[in-house]
Amino acid sequence: MTSTRQTITLIGAGLNGPLLALGLVQRGFQVEIYERRPDMRRVRMSAGRSINLALSTRGIHALKKVGLWDAMQKIIIPMKGRMMHSVTSELTFQPYGKNESEVINSISRAELNIALMNAAQSQGVAIHFQQRCAGIDFKTGTLQLRDETSCDERPVDCAVVIGCDGSASAIRNEMLKLNRFNFSQQFLDYGYKELAIPPGPAGKHALETNALHIWPRGNYMLIALPNMDATFACILFLPFGGPDSFERLTTPSALDEFFRSRFPDAVPLMPNLANDFFANPTGAMVTIKCSPWHFGGQALLLGDAAHAIVPFFGQGINCGFEDCTTLLELLDQHGADWKTVFREFEVARKVNTDAIADLAVENFVEMRDRVADPRFLFRKKVELALEAKYPQLFVPKYSMVTFHRIPYSTALNRGRVQDEMLAALCDGIERIEELDWERADQLVRTSLTPLEHS
Ligand SMILES: Cc1cc2nc3c(=O)[nH]c(=O)nc-3n(C[C@H](O)[C@H](O)[C@H](O)COP(=O)(O)OP(=O)(O)OC[C@H]3O[C@@H](n4cnc5c(N)ncnc54)[C@H](O)[C@@H]3O)c2cc1C
Repeated sequence: MTSTRQTITLIGAGLNGPLLALGLVQRGFQVEIYERRPDMRRVRMSAGRSINLALSTRGIHALKKVGLWDAMQKIIIPMKGRMMHSVTSELTFQPYGKNESEVINSISRAELNIALMNAAQSQGVAIHFQQRCAGIDFKTGTLQLRDETSCDERPVDCAVVIGCDGSASAIRNEMLKLNRFNFSQQFLDYGYKELAIPPGPAGKHALETNALHIWPRGNYMLIALPNMDATFACILFLPFGGPDSFERLTTPSALDEFFRSRFPDAVPLMPNLANDFFANPTGAMVTIKCSPWHFGGQALLLGDAAHAIVPFFGQGINCGFEDCTTLLELLDQHGADWKTVFREFEVARKVNTDAIADLAVENFVEMRDRVADPRFLFRKKVELALEAKYPQLFVPKYSMVTFHRIPYSTALNRGRVQDEMLAALCDGIERIEELDWERADQLVRTSLTPLEHS
């Protein structure tokens, strides 16, 4: 435990801010969070990008570390696998993991955010709402805060500031003005739209509850995640332009025709489709990479502010929460030597956040296209068979990312080796009984080293 009562300033009370704040107060720091939005517990508002999240092992580990995971049990719905909906309305279920313990958890972003803010405040964190960070002077350590109601601006001293202010980070924008700051942003040509499936008859979920539903259609897809109130939060991922695209869906009749021909079994479940579609904004998706993430021991970027990723591996917040775990562990190791902690943090995380950024882009193709391919489903079966036989050597890429805390960079590199191995083993066969186990044994043992599982 660190005994100092040094004040740490966080920008952003989204998901990472309050979680990190909890870890910091638990180590004896005083924490002030400045958040530009109003308090969502008092003002009805959209929870922001995507109303649901899939929470998995890395996020759960971080929540356990700050003592919050048990309380989450009331607001999560385990999803055991993908339920694929074909264009002829056939259903195919594919488990995510090797057994029922390997699930991902659907959680409402707003409820998670509220639980985190409640816990942080109850342990002494001060959250100041409608206070926008309008700039920072790194030389003097002064934040410029704008009150969003009065538009008044005031300076606030901050010896240590951590930007948890998301993909459009104001702190990162200030770092951009510094010498030799590297920055790249890559937008997808796809947008997303949030839609909803209301409760079915008798107030129950209208589709299988414990699954993530996917309507994969090659170049685009619809997904649905269950909510506690028996609704499903849906997201349509579609190109911005081209034949099947947002630019073509400009009238209710075009939308109706598109959904009836592409997602026929979803249409009767979505009575408010046109309202939702035309009322909700079309979101963009971006990968952001930058460095350095810190300015000496004074300022740090964390979560989406440092590394926004596209949502197709369901890892954005799991990765951000893992950032928090790493930062807190480094604090335990080095004490309040912020310069060292921030430097070590970037060394530990950057290679891994770059890796999950690439994995997330790759997984888009898998989700929207390959999950509908019988060859892909067969490969998944082979993967699970290899994992059962060689649990220390072969862990499927999806599982390394989702059900373990194996570094993302290791998952990326081993995943590539394993992909080649699978291609060789699955070539020309259609049933698991035909698998050449001698060859599998030789490939696994020569290409893969034992994994440290966590
Ligand atoms: C469509 C979609 C689906 C997703 N699905 C998943 C999923 O299934 N699983 C998963 O793990 N991740 C998912 N993500 C990613 C996840 O949403 C993000 O990684 C996560 O929200 C990042 O948390 P954060 O705290 O870093 O940023 P945010 O959650 O964006 O929070 C930033 C906060 O900072 C505040 N802020 C911004 N600027 C300022 C300022 N100048 N001054 C003061 N406050 C400011 C904002 O109001 C906000 O409250 C998804 C993302 C999208 C877009």
